[in-house]
Amino acid sequence: MGQRVVIVGGVAGGASCATRLRRLDERADIVMFDRGPHVSFANCGLPYFVGNVIADEQKLLVASSESFHQRFNIRVHTRHEVTAIDRAACTVHVRDLDGQRAFDVPYDALVLAPGAAPIHPPMPGIDLPGIFAVRTIPDSVKIRAWLDAYQPRHALVVGGGFIGLEMAENLAHRGLHVTILEKLPQVMPPLDPEMAQPVADHLHAQGVTLHLGDGLARFEPDGGAVVAITESGLRIAAGLVILAIGVRPETGLAVAAGLPLGERGGILVDAHMRTPDPRIWAVGDAVEVTDVVTGQEIILPLAGPANRQGRLAAESIAGRPRAFRGVQATAVVGVFGLTAATTGASEKGLRRAGVGAFQTVHLHPGHHAGYYPGAQPIHLKLLFRVPDGRVLGAQAVGREGVERRIDVIATAIQMGATVRDLAEAELCYAPQFGSAKDPVNLAGMVASNHLDGLMPVTQWPALSTGTRVLLDVREPDEFAAGHIPGAVNMPLSQLRQQVVALPLTQPLAVYCGVGQRAYYAVRFLTQHGYDATNLPGGYTTYRAVRDAGVLT
Ligand code: FAD
Repeated sequence: MGQRVVIVGGVAGGASCATRLRRLDERADIVMFDRGPHVSFANCGLPYFVGNVIADEQKLLVASSESFHQRFNIRVHTRHEVTAIDRAACTVHVRDLDGQRAFDVPYDALVLAPGAAPIHPPMPGIDLPGIFAVRTIPDSVKIRAWLDAYQPRHALVVGGGFIGLEMAENLAHRGLHVTILEKLPQVMPPLDPEMAQPVADHLHAQGVTLHLGDGLARFEPDGGAVVAITESGLRIAAGLVILAIGVRPETGLAVAAGLPLGERGGILVDAHMRTPDPRIWAVGDAVEVTDVVTGQEIILPLAGPANRQGRLAAESIAGRPRAFRGVQATAVVGVFGLTAATTGASEKGLRRAGVGAFQTVHLHPGHHAGYYPGAQPIHLKLLFRVPDGRVLGAQAVGREGVERRIDVIATAIQMGATVRDLAEAELCYAPQFGSAKDPVNLAGMVASNHLDGLMPVTQWPALSTGTRVLLDVREPDEFAAGHIPGAVNMPLSQLRQQVVALPLTQPLAVYCGVGQRAYYAVRFLTQHGYDATNLPGGYTTYRAVRDAGVLT
């Protein structure tokens, strides 16, 4: 028998570590403990199980204790909680939650993959019946049972992040009227406000009530229901409440064993997922990792990084160490047919991190060629470093093809690519899938034009300074249907004839519907001696920034 490897937590990070280790080391004695009734289950599928989109609980079980044993000779003990680590003796203390016995297990290597716990704020009424978090299969079984037993008509989802939105969709799918309460003034906090705006608009259109910029203060019982009282004093009655206000890393075991935490409160690990104790590794939601774009330490509770880290911990334990590259927070959510995805840094994230030298472009291309039926717009924002054009982040919202574009840009970020690489990327094209200039190419071209001085831009927050005359180059009917207050209309089709009416001394900020005609106009105007800039993303982006409150 080779080294004894004990793994605490048997889902994304723990299970990946266990199976990779077996593939690398047939002799290792691998023992995995999980305090829950299942290992290797699909937490990401839980909202859809609540919504009955996934009707069969068994479908959530990716692997079982038996299959771990049969296929991989890995001993799995569910309903077993590891309650302490004795680092000097190299043992863990384990409690059998059914048999109520406790015992010590020695280890040569220990992997902590305990995940994260839902935030459960200590506030009045938080433990009332009908209030649930969604973390495990038993959590979602309880929610389903509550829905079946009490048939509530109204649900309150506290938290407008991706789990909150998925729960909102699934509860609506089950016929409930859903209210979302979110403390921030926007849904989907990883997105910049103007990119979250189409998601909020879509939720409204689907009948979801949104209360943004208001926090939860307490709960009170109300007959069979619960009333949530918000910080602003609003009272929201609901027959079911879902708390989706985030998670905190499960660090109790590590802290009690004297392992250090990082500045963000996650278990501290090196690039090989090793803690300062050379016999202990930690992976997944419980650890702190480096954001490759900002260089800052963050906690990123996502399944992809947890799986990759589990694999790397196994490689390190097996003596084939490879370094973790860090994270870039690539994520996607589907809400009532709309997709929102992000990778890398957001604009607010860059500002928070003190990164000053960057620029953004907004564009709204179709997800495939406009001449082929069914093209849907993708609202795309690209962030890049100035002056070298290195891609820092991207966000996209739309009905089709959103995640494909973000995945391409995510890969580009990981390879250290610039916007010029995006412009040159050779991507799939046939009319029903894309365009000869894919949205990713277009984003790279627009950004390259900006870097090359071919398309100077005025960013939206600068609009309020009023130093530039607003020139709307759309057709008169488009202008009449809505325009930025104070704008002058001079359609691109007439610009060459009418330009004499524009004084050369007056700086111009030019816009159209999505930015393309304004770009043509800016090229024409600047070559005729005008100081003209483009408002990125045009009137479409204007409405989003206005409705999101970005304009002062
Ligand atoms: P987990 O997968 O949470 O596993 C930790 C396990 O450790 C748990 O089973 C726990 O019971 C066990 N454990 C903890 N302490 C002990 C102990 N002392 N002794 C024994 N066992 C212990 N991520 C995405 O990327 N995309 C998604 O779409 C997505 N959707 C999600 C939807 C929901 C509802 C939830 C809850 C999460 C979602 N996630 C998603 C996040 C993703 O599931 C997590 O990031 C990932 O599972 C983390 O893996 P982990 O191994 O660190 O922890």
